[in-house]
Amino acid sequence: MAYKSTRGQVAPIGFIDAVLMGLADDGGLLVPQQIPQVPAETLRQWQKLDYAALALEVFSLYVDGEIPRNELKQLIDDSYARFRHPEVTPVHKLRDDLHVLELFHGPTFAFKDVALQLLGNLYSYISKQTGSIIHILGATSGDTGASAIEGVRGKPGIRICILHPHGKVSKVQALQMTTVQDDNVLNLAVEGTFDDCQRIIKELFADVGFKREHHLRAINSINIARVLAQIVYYFHAYFRLAEQGVTGKVNFSVPTGNFGDIFAGYMAKRMGLPIHKLILATNENNILERFVNEGVYEPGEFRSTYSPSMDIQVASNFERYLYYLYGENGATIASFMDQFKTEGRIVVPPEKLAQVHADFAAYGVRNEECLDTIADNYRATGYLLDPHTACGVAAADRLAADGEVTIALATAHPAKFDEAIRLRNIRQTYPAPIAELFDKPQSYVVVNNDNAEIRKQLEAFF
Ligand SMILES: *Cc1c(COP(=O)(O)O)cnc(C)c1O
Repeated sequence: MAYKSTRGQVAPIGFIDAVLMGLADDGGLLVPQQIPQVPAETLRQWQKLDYAALALEVFSLYVDGEIPRNELKQLIDDSYARFRHPEVTPVHKLRDDLHVLELFHGPTFAFKDVALQLLGNLYSYISKQTGSIIHILGATSGDTGASAIEGVRGKPGIRICILHPHGKVSKVQALQMTTVQDDNVLNLAVEGTFDDCQRIIKELFADVGFKREHHLRAINSINIARVLAQIVYYFHAYFRLAEQGVTGKVNFSVPTGNFGDIFAGYMAKRMGLPIHKLILATNENNILERFVNEGVYEPGEFRSTYSPSMDIQVASNFERYLYYLYGENGATIASFMDQFKTEGRIVVPPEKLAQVHADFAAYGVRNEECLDTIADNYRATGYLLDPHTACGVAAADRLAADGEVTIALATAHPAKFDEAIRLRNIRQTYPAPIAELFDKPQSYVVVNNDNAEIRKQLEAFF
């Protein structure tokens, strides 16, 4: 399997090089040269596999022998051994037509662990095998940072620096990042928003000289390995419903920020998983809702919401979808992205929008509606949703038609977002690993929203 750029200017590279490259050298994103097709017979065989075994099968299609199967198996087994639930990503039934896919049983209580535990081990493996220096640089709206740090803390040959927006992540998110004392970890708290952090990272990665000199590697979902790891649980969840007698196509409702998770669902659909609609759930930062409903991709004004991991105006993975929407034409995407840079918007014509509607429906959940969804479900079933998951559930309630079965992705544990939960007078007890964070010392450096200042910090650290 070779990987190519959405902007068409990178010669095909293998899986390991694609992981190391992160953002493509031409400014685009890497995608597999073909999307592997999974025939019905293979689907039937996969149905019996446990999570790690299924992950091995899915990954083998994309790694294509570059990592020997027994070593890939070890990497995957190690990655999912740290999950607290034996099924790794269990499915919880809320109603006959609505199931919650719990993706938060990893070390940091958010779905990012599913991909970042694996990516951490993958980087470790690559560093040992190829002697590559791994200096990870990433931006986080809260969950990616904690999860990436947890994936590589203390690992020899790896250093990691994470930028987060100072004061704009939840208390637990901040503690999860800043209480890690391993000296291969640097936390920078930026006086700005997540979009500022992400822009700085993108600019640093786009400076190919700086990236090479400092061996910068990406952990944001611009890294194709993250998307690939997330494909697995779409299959896994579908099989769990099939065991319960659900037949035919299902919807997935996905709380979306950077379009990474839902793009993995799109890949699963293209591979042959019987998915009806991918329901794109956003909050008041609803650029993606507006794109799906109106065909216009244009950032709006930033709003802080109860689901901060989706407080994003520019969705970095969106380019991957656009690439497939336009028939894998790199030149078209390159000119679209140029146009986006100069004019600040992308508009697709009605025939393309019809194609979008064949795969996606979208709904942006307002702040009060998010909290109401949490309170209503808690009262009706005793099940507590985190605010991101609540957006997915609210979108499913609104968009799934009668008779359709929907799996809503639970992307975080409610304990991570207690500030929002308390607004509806719901009291929860923290799981022990979260409660313990409050007594630990923190270390981080506050920096201005300034490219040059952050470069200096990196030059000193890497
Ligand atoms: C990152 C995150 C999201 C958004 O995922 P994307 O891949 O960026 O769309 C949703 N919910 C939670 C809890 C997250 O941490």
